Amino acid sequence: MEAVPKLIVFSAPSGAGKTTLVRHLLKQEHLNLAFSISAASREPREGEIDGVHYYFLGIPEFKNRIRANDFLEFEEVYKDQFYGTLKGEVERLWSEGKNVIFDIDVVGGLRLKSKFPERCISIFVKPPSINELQKRLKKRKTESAEKIAMRVAKASTEMATAPQFDVIIKNDDLEIAKKEAEQIVQDFINKKVTSSEK
Ligand code: 5GP
Repeated sequence: MEAVPKLIVFSAPSGAGKTTLVRHLLKQEHLNLAFSISAASREPREGEIDGVHYYFLGIPEFKNRIRANDFLEFEEVYKDQFYGTLKGEVERLWSEGKNVIFDIDVVGGLRLKSKFPERCISIFVKPPSINELQKRLKKRKTESAEKIAMRVAKASTEMATAPQFDVIIKNDDLEIAKKEAEQIVQDFINKKVTSSEK
């Protein structure tokens, strides 16, 4: 029987290191992963490319796509900042036989897991502490002080959702976290899934 493509969801508070882990996994060819490019209503940051990092839609177009029922899940992650997974994006990657990896917020992550209980693994990346998270966001210099404060404030509620995930990876030491992530994803991909969840 042909292997059923899997969904690998990485969720975490902003600054926990999930994007670094996802990028690391994408380089491991044997995992046969492809990144689900999300839609976002925000402006691109310096160096971000439309159709590579996100589909940058702007708010009016994002709302049109909500009305058209084009999303598998979407969230207003921060005020006036919408993010979502397009159905067409996942279908495109599945048709290529890829396992799809997601870098999405905790609510979206849990929603995908509930839609695909068998073929999806939900992984929560836990930063060492909220303090450390704040330091990392400041060092990253991609957000204004106000936006950093907003992300840090949200982090505590996001941390509280960790027990609802299938697996928690503690990101105290990045090299250890990378190895752990590789093993978890490899094991899940090898697992036989018979269901035809669509
Ligand atoms: P950023 O603005 O830093 O790129 O992303 C902000 C947050 O939105 C991150 O937690 C990111 O994982 C989340 N996010 C990105 N894409 C999606 C998506 O498609 N759906 C949901 N629910 N969250 C997303």
